[in-house]
Amino acid sequence: MLRSLFLICLLVIGVAGCGDSPEATLEPMADRVLTGGVVVTVDPERPDAEAVAIRDGRIQAVGTPEAIGRLVGPDTDVIDLEGRVVLPGFIEGHGHFLGLGDAQMILDLQRTASFEMMIEQVAEAAAEAEPGAWILGRGWHQERWDPVPEPAYDGVATHHAMSAVSPDNPVLLTHASGHASFANARAMALAGIDRDSEDPAGGTIVRDEDGEPTGFLRQAAQMPVRRVLQQSRASMTEAERQTRFLRQVELAGAEALRHGVTSFHDQGTGFEDLDRLIALADEGGLPIRLHVAVRGESNADMDQRLPDYRRVGYGDHFLTIRSIKRAIDGALGTHGAWLLEPYTDKPDTSGLPQTPLESLRETAEVALRHGFQLNTHAIGDRGNREALNVYEDVLRRDEAGDRRWRIEHAQNLHPDEVPRFAALGVIASMQGIHATSDGPWVPQRLGAERARQRAYVWRSLLDAEAVICNGTDVPVEPISPLASYHASVSRMMANGERFFPEQSMERLEALRSYTIGCAQAVFEEDLLGTITPGKFADLVVLDGNPLTVAEDLLPSLQVEMTLVGGDVRYRR
Ligand SMILES: [Zn+2]
Repeated sequence: MLRSLFLICLLVIGVAGCGDSPEATLEPMADRVLTGGVVVTVDPERPDAEAVAIRDGRIQAVGTPEAIGRLVGPDTDVIDLEGRVVLPGFIEGHGHFLGLGDAQMILDLQRTASFEMMIEQVAEAAAEAEPGAWILGRGWHQERWDPVPEPAYDGVATHHAMSAVSPDNPVLLTHASGHASFANARAMALAGIDRDSEDPAGGTIVRDEDGEPTGFLRQAAQMPVRRVLQQSRASMTEAERQTRFLRQVELAGAEALRHGVTSFHDQGTGFEDLDRLIALADEGGLPIRLHVAVRGESNADMDQRLPDYRRVGYGDHFLTIRSIKRAIDGALGTHGAWLLEPYTDKPDTSGLPQTPLESLRETAEVALRHGFQLNTHAIGDRGNREALNVYEDVLRRDEAGDRRWRIEHAQNLHPDEVPRFAALGVIASMQGIHATSDGPWVPQRLGAERARQRAYVWRSLLDAEAVICNGTDVPVEPISPLASYHASVSRMMANGERFFPEQSMERLEALRSYTIGCAQAVFEEDLLGTITPGKFADLVVLDGNPLTVAEDLLPSLQVEMTLVGGDVRYRR
């Protein structure tokens, strides 16, 4: 009763006003107070403050040091900010949580500047690996290599150098896009891939002029190798699997917290790992809040099992399972995005749907039936159009409304599609960092004019009142919200040029896309995304203010502290 009186008081006149009223003496003391800094609330009702009080894991009050000081009792932990800046915890809108854990355990190829460097990393790993053990890596991109390998097939050398340094260990190196891989001779032999293998539907075994596989496997052509890898994992005991899972969670959580990420939208986890996540949430063992999209084996499988797996605010609001992940197409880098017109640098193709439209429509029906969101990966302008068409058709019959289905990536949009996001209430889940990572080669794929008009059009979407939820697609990109925020406001590429800067976000817009925008994307704008009394005390402390520091200093801002539910979970 006292607490609700107090909250009403807060809601009506704010804490400073309450301090003068008789009820103030009845206010419970704060558990923790952060004071003496800059508080960027992202709450338009009260954008700036200097101090925050936390009680029972929630924001108790926001205000001046004097007003908040009245909530300091003998047991209150007072953190002096010394001028540092508090923001709502960052929300990663599109990532792969267990994949992030995995990425900490396998070769990180994101910084390989040449094919030779990649081979050196494999050679080092092979020297230490047990005979027959898999060597896995992730994050290479042929567009980052200088020099270009000679000879190259689709920009990539043949596997021979890699097979020579790792003759007995199968090697599988996943492309930065996740939509292609590079395998050595051992891995291809285990998977039965040779010159007689036919390209599978929706995939390509890249070959040299003699018809021999080069090791570069696009899209579905990776699957035989992945199946062999999965079989080797299937032979693990249950105890081994659980150990591996806990290690994934621990590593992913640490990496997220180190970057100020307090909530994470995981885009696609199977039922087996969902069981483990639910059990861990039961024990209070999740390091950050997870909103996990289900990746089922089939529509029938999901139709049957989704009701048992639905969780909203489960485990003290650390686990929500209320969305489905699908993909309509592939990535632009591998010519897998489904375009309205042919690729400029590969005019014989416009890409392909990865999922039959009928299957996506069935998924939409399943989602509607069970009250799940549908999150569809769509990158090409055709892929986006077709996905929105399916959404529009199915949602037309929806009486409840406000389904907040999502398009993941939405990288290339025909201008006709831009207003459809707000009109259909569809969330644009876009990754700022993709624009600047991909920018150097996007005009090759699309031509300059199409790239200018359609690629990563955040400005156009915001002007059309779409909600954007930002992120990184980690482990495709590092999880850093500050790097993606910098990309969102500057469109500055590594080469120092700006990728169509007229599509940049304003600073506050970009901050909203990393906080309240992503909270809206999971129906949690009343719990997360701003520093507002009553919401969870999920906070990040930075050494500078991302709304005001010079643009070139944004990437070097440091995360000093991360709090989840008022609990300090990371300190630099
Ligand atoms: Zn993804």
